[in-house]
Amino acid sequence: MDENVPLARYTTIGTGGPARWFARPESIDELHDLLAWAHDRRVDVEAIGLGSNVLAHDEGVDALVVKLAGPLAQVELDGEVLLAGGGAANAVCLHLARAAGLGGFEFASAIPGTVGGGVCMNAGAYGREFRDVLLDATVVDHTGVRSVDAAQLDLAYRHSNLGPGAVVARVRLRLETSSTDAVKTRAAELLAQRKATQPTNKRTFGSVFKNPEGSPGAGRMIEQCGLKGHAVGGAVISPRHANFIENAGGATSAQCLELMAAARRQVHERFGYTLEHEVRFLGPLALPEL
Ligand SMILES: Cc1cc2nc3c(=O)[nH]c(=O)nc-3n(C[C@H](O)[C@H](O)[C@H](O)COP(=O)(O)OP(=O)(O)OC[C@H]3O[C@@H](n4cnc5c(N)ncnc54)[C@H](O)[C@@H]3O)c2cc1C
Repeated sequence: MDENVPLARYTTIGTGGPARWFARPESIDELHDLLAWAHDRRVDVEAIGLGSNVLAHDEGVDALVVKLAGPLAQVELDGEVLLAGGGAANAVCLHLARAAGLGGFEFASAIPGTVGGGVCMNAGAYGREFRDVLLDATVVDHTGVRSVDAAQLDLAYRHSNLGPGAVVARVRLRLETSSTDAVKTRAAELLAQRKATQPTNKRTFGSVFKNPEGSPGAGRMIEQCGLKGHAVGGAVISPRHANFIENAGGATSAQCLELMAAARRQVHERFGYTLEHEVRFLGPLALPEL
């Protein structure tokens, strides 16, 4: 276990201060020991995948941050079932599925996270999400190890019932027979659609806010408030898609948060919707009351 590890290295937005403790367990036993250690000392636990949907406090995070490694980040196939460590990148899973001619996971081709983060967030795109492919997940907390399915995890739009001390160590995804070419073509189409509308070549943490039900969408409302391109320091509301914040150089998490607060306030005043942040906060970050 390491101490005071800068989280800016582990987040796609590139901001965040040090994690008080940082560990990279490679087995379920090692993970369980770490979680029990933290529980005994009343230390908070946060899992991190590829940090593609997190904003960490600039002053750091007083917790044990766990990033799965080794076998807990590897992938293999058993027939049409993909077995992945929670720390395995979606891209690696898709690569293996494509090579084996298995489809159903193409939706994740442009989601730059891990399968553990994908289950926790029920990440999705273009009409499909993790709950559509999840057979079950092996979840570890300080009390032990359990196997749960999508219903038990209460997977819904960018939601699961996983608490901070519960880590998805392994997942089994149900894929379907397709062909390498078909998977390749579908993934390329989705990537092209993505590139046409989103800032895929910038440092961001993905969607800032969830889309409120019945609304025109968070991005459209923020855009109509005239906030595209609005900057605080190095943090900028993406000129390409207003539900993204770009790190244009030297941004801090506090600056990102200030932009989020401004967008949320203006959307509330103009449209009456209360935006809920999709990005997960690490450390004592919070948006002001409306
Ligand atoms: C350019 C870009 C595009 C994106 N597009 C999409 C999209 O189309 N659809 C979408 O849904 N998301 C999208 N995202 C957001 C993000 O990629 C997803 O939410 C992704 O699933 C997060 O995975 P991660 O491994 O990076 O998790 P992190 O960002 O590291 O963590 C996110 C949350 O998951 C928890 N977590 C991470 N790993 C585990 C684990 N093993 N066990 C338990 N909890 C864990 C963390 O504690 C945190 O609460 C995008 C992000 C970027 C930067």
